[in-house]
Amino acid sequence: MKAAVFHNPKDIRVDTVEDPIIEESRDAILRVTSTAICGSDLHIYNGMFPQPRNMVLGHEFMGIVEEVGRGVKNLKVGDRVVVPFPISCGTCHFCNMSLPTHCENSNTEHYGPEGGLLKGKGAALFGYTDLYGGYNGGQAELVRVPYADYGPRKVPENLTDEQVLFLTDIFPTGWAGIDWADMKGGETVVVWGCGPVGIMAMKSAWLRGAKRVIGVDIQRYRLEIARKSANAETINAGDVDAVELIRELTGGYGADVCVDAVGMEADRNALEKAMNVLQMEKGSMKVLEKCFDSVRRGGTVSVLGVYGTPYNNFPLHQWFDKGIILKGGQAWVHNYIDHLLDLVKTGKVVLDDIITHSVPLADAAKMYDIFNKKEDNCLKVILKP
Ligand code: NAD
Ligand code: ZN
Ligand code: ZN
Repeated sequence: MKAAVFHNPKDIRVDTVEDPIIEESRDAILRVTSTAICGSDLHIYNGMFPQPRNMVLGHEFMGIVEEVGRGVKNLKVGDRVVVPFPISCGTCHFCNMSLPTHCENSNTEHYGPEGGLLKGKGAALFGYTDLYGGYNGGQAELVRVPYADYGPRKVPENLTDEQVLFLTDIFPTGWAGIDWADMKGGETVVVWGCGPVGIMAMKSAWLRGAKRVIGVDIQRYRLEIARKSANAETINAGDVDAVELIRELTGGYGADVCVDAVGMEADRNALEKAMNVLQMEKGSMKVLEKCFDSVRRGGTVSVLGVYGTPYNNFPLHQWFDKGIILKGGQAWVHNYIDHLLDLVKTGKVVLDDIITHSVPLADAAKMYDIFNKKEDNCLKVILKP
């Protein structure tokens, strides 16, 4: 089969590789019909999550069931499903606590580079390096889906791939950032980062009763998409002091909720330097620090953006003084996906309006480059195997 294979940072190739096979009784093999490139893939692409061997990338995908293991009773060949990006067994200690991104059975070898970043059992994701379980991903014609009786969700035939694909990751992820804030209605929500995840957080904020939604970014075209697709007010942090402006707009108090939908890419130079010493320098946390600066006392900061290194100058004093509620992590897709599919089915939310590029899988390498450089007004890329 053909697949988008990571060879080295900035070196993705569409190669011919072995077809996946059923390895465990709860596996299924999926024929992928649509798959997306995620901001999270860029961390691997840019070498921020080291990957020592070739690997098929891609954790956002859907398709048609081609084969099922004998332990999968709820799916049959021909079913059309969308697949959550975390690989979770559904039965372990953490899955039973509704913490599917901490599944104990999917990644028993979770390791960190010398110096131990992350040790012990931990999250497993499709196509997301050996650190996250070493599973091949879905930017491919076929993919092996472990625990296929727990993750995949059947989708109605009258909805297109584009309408439901983002249930794999970015919609539940944006939703998590808002859900963690336990909103009562009437809140001001500021989302830092108007990428696909940020925009999904903005859509979620409206659905959860926000009175005001503000998107912050440094890319003009992305701010425009935030206004159009998520009906957000926007702030260009490249032009103005966004923290000052947010304070001004909130009567000096700050926002009730700040979402960091940027992560460690905010300061790539500092980060690349930091990766060498396995320690973030001051500056690498820029957006998270700005969330702390611009949230009100007692407000919530939700961290959706990925952070992969330790950081010594964490503003602990500010967290304590302001009584900030801080939440973050890989989103609990399994917990939200059924409710979110209902929102799509009933037309309460539209997800496909953020797609700017839909191309054959063969163009994967070119699209990684364009998405990474934010060229051609690129926001979300769909690959069609
Ligand atoms: P993206 O790279 O398309 O979007 C990031 C946005 O941040 C861009 O629009 C960029 O212009 C903006 N940005 C960069 N520096 C900024 C700054 N200093 N101030 C304001 N904006 C700035 O990525 P995405 O697909 O939207 O993903 C966003 C983050 O969410 C990534 O870190 C990704 O890994 C992470 N993510 C996390 C989960 C999870 O489960 N927690 C799931 C999916 C993605
Ligand atoms: Zn993703
Ligand atoms: Zn589990």
